[in-house]
Amino acid sequence: MSRRKQIYEGKAKILFEGPEPGTLVQYFKDDATAFNAQKKATLNGKGVLNNRISEHIMINLGNIGIPTHFIKRLNMREQLIKQVEIIPLEVIVRNTAAGSICKQLGLEEGTRLPRSIIEFCYKKDELADPLVAEEHITAFGWATPAEIDEIMAITLRVNDFMCGMFAGIGIKLIDFKIEFGRYTDKDGSEMILLADEISPDSCRLWDMETDKKLDKDRFRRDLGGVTEAYTEVATRLGILKENPKSAPTLSLVSDQED
Ligand code: UDP
Repeated sequence: MSRRKQIYEGKAKILFEGPEPGTLVQYFKDDATAFNAQKKATLNGKGVLNNRISEHIMINLGNIGIPTHFIKRLNMREQLIKQVEIIPLEVIVRNTAAGSICKQLGLEEGTRLPRSIIEFCYKKDELADPLVAEEHITAFGWATPAEIDEIMAITLRVNDFMCGMFAGIGIKLIDFKIEFGRYTDKDGSEMILLADEISPDSCRLWDMETDKKLDKDRFRRDLGGVTEAYTEVATRLGILKENPKSAPTLSLVSDQED
């Protein structure tokens, strides 16, 4: 990892120059942050789990025709991705009320929303990623109206697919955050790709029977058992061998050389 040129370091991931132009290597760290990085910890094995969970979801989304930045997983902590220009928006989908919408609108956590709601937040750490309207996005030129339409269409498909995928393993998809980027093809044509990651760091996932939280809220709210919960998600997705109790790094099903 140190041999490659580092392009960017975020809170949970590092981006390195890829082997070919137009590619990057995305490295998943064990670091966890919350509340705009005021709370920090290292959770052993989290990066390994998120690498595998995100790979699994991105591959499945790719299989239903959703364009993603994912090319292939390289090893336990790294994946090869297409280099994109990140659109500075966090696109949030909410199926059930939790987190910030409860505070903003006075809703009780767990209230089913009348329909899925898409929100946009402006990606700006100094401002704690404020909620913005399409008006702000187009007025400030963060994305064009056509890009917003495409992002919303892809986002709804991602939500449909993920709701079904998680329902199939006894998990309710409460909400999640995704990011998009602009990718320029070899022939010069530009397209929008789903980028970043999709993992229990960026989703709220509740057990269908018990409402047990299987996501980063365990860290945010000091509930304990964070990596155990991520391991459970991975196990139910079929990414881990049966024996969720053993260390995730040892029990990962390997379909590629690590
Ligand atoms: N989320 C995220 N990164 C962020 C903010 C939110 O991945 O910087 C995810 C979060 O895990 C949840 C969803 O987006 O699944 C909605 O988060 P919310 O707006 O409720 O914010 P929070 O309660 O985390 O402050």
